[in-house]
Amino acid sequence: MQVLKFGGSSVANAYNINKVIDIVKEKIITDKTIVVVSAFGGITDILLQCSQLAAEGNETYKEKLHEAELRHLTTVKELITITQQSAVLSLVKTLCNEIEDICTGIYLLKELSERTKDRIVSYGEILSSKIIAAKLNTEAIACEWVNSPELIITNSNYGSAAVDFTITDKKIADYFAASGAGLFMMPGFIASDSTGANTTLGRGGSDYTAAIVAAALSAQVLEIWTDVSGMMTADPRLVTNVRIIPQISYQEAMELSHFGAKVIYPPTIQPVRGKGIPTWIKNTFAPQDNGTVIQQESSNNTNSIRGISSINSIALLSLEGSGMVGIPGFSKRLFEALAEKKINVILITQSSSEHSICVGIDAATAETARQAINEAFAYEIETKKVDPIVVEKDLAIVALVGDNMKSHPGISGKMFGNLGRNGVNVRAIAQGSSERNISAVVSTQDVKKAINVLHEEFFETVYKEINLFIAGVGNVGGKLVAQILQQQQFLLQNLHLKINVVGLCNSKKMLFKDEAIDLKNWKSLLLEEGETMDMQVFIERIQSKNLRNSVFADVTANEMVASCYEQLLQKSISVVACNKIACSSKYEYYKKLKNLSREFNAQFLFETNVGASLPIIGTLNDLLRGGDKINTIQAVLSGTLNFVFNNYDGNKSFATIVRQAQAEGYTEPDPRLDLSGKDVMRKIMILAREAGNVIEMEDIANNSFMPPACMVGSVEDFYKSMEEHEAHFKQLFKEAGENKLKFVASFKEGKASVGLQHINSQHDLYHLYGKDNIVLFYTDRYVEQPLVIKGAGAGADVTASGVFGDIIKASRV
Ligand code: ADP
Ligand code: ASP
Ligand code: MG
Repeated sequence: MQVLKFGGSSVANAYNINKVIDIVKEKIITDKTIVVVSAFGGITDILLQCSQLAAEGNETYKEKLHEAELRHLTTVKELITITQQSAVLSLVKTLCNEIEDICTGIYLLKELSERTKDRIVSYGEILSSKIIAAKLNTEAIACEWVNSPELIITNSNYGSAAVDFTITDKKIADYFAASGAGLFMMPGFIASDSTGANTTLGRGGSDYTAAIVAAALSAQVLEIWTDVSGMMTADPRLVTNVRIIPQISYQEAMELSHFGAKVIYPPTIQPVRGKGIPTWIKNTFAPQDNGTVIQQESSNNTNSIRGISSINSIALLSLEGSGMVGIPGFSKRLFEALAEKKINVILITQSSSEHSICVGIDAATAETARQAINEAFAYEIETKKVDPIVVEKDLAIVALVGDNMKSHPGISGKMFGNLGRNGVNVRAIAQGSSERNISAVVSTQDVKKAINVLHEEFFETVYKEINLFIAGVGNVGGKLVAQILQQQQFLLQNLHLKINVVGLCNSKKMLFKDEAIDLKNWKSLLLEEGETMDMQVFIERIQSKNLRNSVFADVTANEMVASCYEQLLQKSISVVACNKIACSSKYEYYKKLKNLSREFNAQFLFETNVGASLPIIGTLNDLLRGGDKINTIQAVLSGTLNFVFNNYDGNKSFATIVRQAQAEGYTEPDPRLDLSGKDVMRKIMILAREAGNVIEMEDIANNSFMPPACMVGSVEDFYKSMEEHEAHFKQLFKEAGENKLKFVASFKEGKASVGLQHINSQHDLYHLYGKDNIVLFYTDRYVEQPLVIKGAGAGADVTASGVFGDIIKASRV
């Protein structure tokens, strides 16, 4: 004997039912077969809605009912040839009339009991099983319809009745022993109590019907046919790169389904496990796929984790109080109070201090639970031995499941480390002593992220996905996007990193795409599909998307963007900035951001703040981490000023050379920031801060060479005024003589200064060409000869590559 169960999606319409018929035809060749079916997909819900509407006195229940009737009639017409339709159509009509009669009763009485609900929903399975049996018979495949409620006997706990296995097993065994048929059709989900009233086995209960029958008959095999090709490593609706689990033990399947893997109804496993019946999950729409087999031993499991699941709508109850310590019986009373109200406890934790007990329950039962517990402990609450129960809602449980966890230390470390790095706060933890399951209670809004983070960590050895948001797609940002596009394959192959740019904005528009923006077309996409830019909305969107491994890249020079880092770091979103404003603002803000990055496990990287992509800040950090101390810094940190003084010889005007630097993309958007030395001040301050000093802009001496008159008005005024002061610049050049003019930044004995200097040919700073930068670090270990870092220090390409480098760094922690 073999038992096949087809779920609601497999029998949702005529097209799908034909697929079912094809599978059944193949199967009956090999063995006697029992087919268990669900109601047509969605019908159970519709019937429940009808009864609810009727009970509320809302007449629209009639329309809903009509909708359900029409679906069945249409299916019959599409499924069965015209000449053979009439008997089936009239059966559908009769059954639907019965439903309507019951609903009229509910409507008139305005009363709906759980018992009546079970009666109403039972029609769903009756209709589907009758129609499919009729279809088989019209195809000359003899099929005996079996009235499940006559065989499956339960208690009267309507909605989720408990099976009386002694009676049920016997009835099933007797029935099938007496029948000579080769193919049977049974409605799933429905049963009856000792009075003969309809009961149901809980939502999704058709799986259970099939398992009960399979176990009672010691069937060779149970096959659960559904719309996916097996049990998967996580819910495919939440995670994209899920894998099918080829084999899984009964225990693991039970844990996974209990923790929300909807593909199989949890009680299903118990009966088949008792009899050791192999149970397959197969795909009606891809029958050739292997599927998953659930059986005694899970062999060949190289992975310590078998799957990841989640249950939403959890409430956490915490009972706390000093009066609980060392006194036995508190937990007994707590669980008794819950049991009396038939409240199912999903998760329990108690700290070893015995000061608190925490239980996870279905959120729908939270208020009943609160009352019951507060009543049960009324005396202790009054005498302040325990606090009134605390109830928290909007929570979910995320669970790792696997038989092999017990032989693998470090799994919970990995689990919580990864959740923590992604800003998922864990409210409670439970690990059974079987070590088959580690559960964490998290906020509902973090579930999708948590599952994806864990799935990536435990299953996707292929690559890690980074969700990148880029603010500013101008000169540097545009280059950054081009570099990401160009490096995509390399990163995937060599670093196993996949960078998805999921958000982009410039000063006018912003664009989001969860499945990654097509970087070949980002310009037109931003233009055509982009929404009006609003920085606060952009940040809120990043937060609410709550994607794992999120990185925000600030490729602007904008103050408002810089003021948003705090909001991001607090959500464990890494920030990479070439924008210098944050790090060169008040020390307090800089320090706050550094602290937030540490506290929330997010990276805050800004290598390009000094010397574009030259490894200056990284080297400085490495020196400090190695125990060295920075004593003196001497540097030329302005690509613009170095370019200008390298090219200015009094022939072309000073203003012309500055214009050229701007055209080459070396200057800040406002070139006066470079010419005034302010940009260099910011850079030396950032280096000094990174070296561990508390320093502000006001503490830095600036020996500016610019006539103050040049620095007022617009950028155009600035160029004009420089032309007018050409004599001043000529004089500077003349005074230098054999020496070179370099705008030098230094930090020595706790003091920073910037200014124009005459550098002779013996000096370390002399041979510095084009727009290059140079930094000399004198440290405890580099005493006589400094550590020198030198190279291109400005330009969109190198800056973009520095930002890119930081993004990779932020991704690889
Ligand atoms: P049926 O109608 O056949 O009973 P269900 O809707 O009850 O089917 O269950 C199948 C669905 O379960 C799949 O379509 C899938 O979206 C969902 N599902 C949730 N978790 C998992 C998982 N771990 N593996 C496979 N499917 C899962
Ligand atoms: N039709 C029932 C439900 O929707 C049972 C099932 O499909 O397994 O819950
Ligand atoms: Mg199901």
